[in-house]
Amino acid sequence: MAKVYGTIIIGSGPSGYTAAIYAARSNMSVLMLQGYQTGGQLMQTSEVENYPGFEDGVMGPEMMEKFEKQAQRFGAELVPEDAIKIDTSAKPFTVTTDSAEYQGHTIIIATGASAQWLGLPNEQRLQGRGVSACATCDGFFFRGKDVVVVGGGDTAMEEATFLTRYANHVTLVHRRDSFRASKIMQDRARNNPKVSIVLESEVADVLGEEEVTGVRLRNVTTGEESTLNAHGLFIAIGHKPNTEIFKGLVQMDAQGYIDPVEYTMTNIPGIFAAGDVTDHRYRQAVTAAADGCRAAIDVERWLENQGIHVGIENWE
Ligand code: NAP
Repeated sequence: MAKVYGTIIIGSGPSGYTAAIYAARSNMSVLMLQGYQTGGQLMQTSEVENYPGFEDGVMGPEMMEKFEKQAQRFGAELVPEDAIKIDTSAKPFTVTTDSAEYQGHTIIIATGASAQWLGLPNEQRLQGRGVSACATCDGFFFRGKDVVVVGGGDTAMEEATFLTRYANHVTLVHRRDSFRASKIMQDRARNNPKVSIVLESEVADVLGEEEVTGVRLRNVTTGEESTLNAHGLFIAIGHKPNTEIFKGLVQMDAQGYIDPVEYTMTNIPGIFAAGDVTDHRYRQAVTAAADGCRAAIDVERWLENQGIHVGIENWE
């Protein structure tokens, strides 16, 4: 008899691993397709100080290693490959990777979202050394420092305002002469004495050897360039959910975030979604993890209601 997993989890960030821990610990057969880039966004984070349980903080990659080991401890099978095709036309579902086909009674989509980056020559190199896409995660490290925020949407306003709690000064740089952010969020940023605004300008590059020392600005109308000293560059130009392969399969909103219809279950019975792939509001490791737990519990209950037994002892 072909192996049919109780659930196939796609994605290996905090939501995927938490779903794996809960599902495997309930004696369900669990396969996780971790993706070629395992660990999700936390692999690009330096220190995580706001995840409960790590009182002295923990490096993002180290935390994900711990999540992985905990999932393995309960018997989750991990495959470091991307899911490239999902077939829901017959049950059980079939998920294809580059090297194999797997069958599962349920699927948990936990592919997360990716921060959009500017694509600057030195942006990648200085990530975690002053370049960040998350003020909630990294703002604390910029106490008394000058920082730059790029973007003109609600996230940029929110990040700029939030960063004034720590930073000495925040310069908000936007490429157009008006913001797309809601008025209330704009007003909050504009009225903050620690925020100054540079419009019709783009960041041409981020400067620094070991850590960020400044940014090079370019006026988009005149082309004139200038240097602004800063210790941090926060990119707040939006996130993109990693849902390309699920398009047309499950219900999504206009931005491509999956819209669960019944708790964590999508409009396709048996397919669940958890974490940042459904969330453009909180985007925290702890909220994603909590969501993974909810999805695993929903999967268990759904399988029970369907009368499907998925214990690993069932395999031949
Ligand atoms: P967004 O609304 O899509 O705004 C992205 C901003 O980044 C835009 O101003 C855009 O400029 C700019 N941008 C995009 N690519 C750029 C590039 N390559 N170089 C320079 N600038 C670039 O994204 P968001 O602010 O992350 O918000 C996403 C959604 O979440 C929105 O619906 C928002 O309302 C919501 N949100 C709500 C709250 C809240 O209510 N508390 C907080 C955060 C987010 P242009 O304007 O020129 O296109």
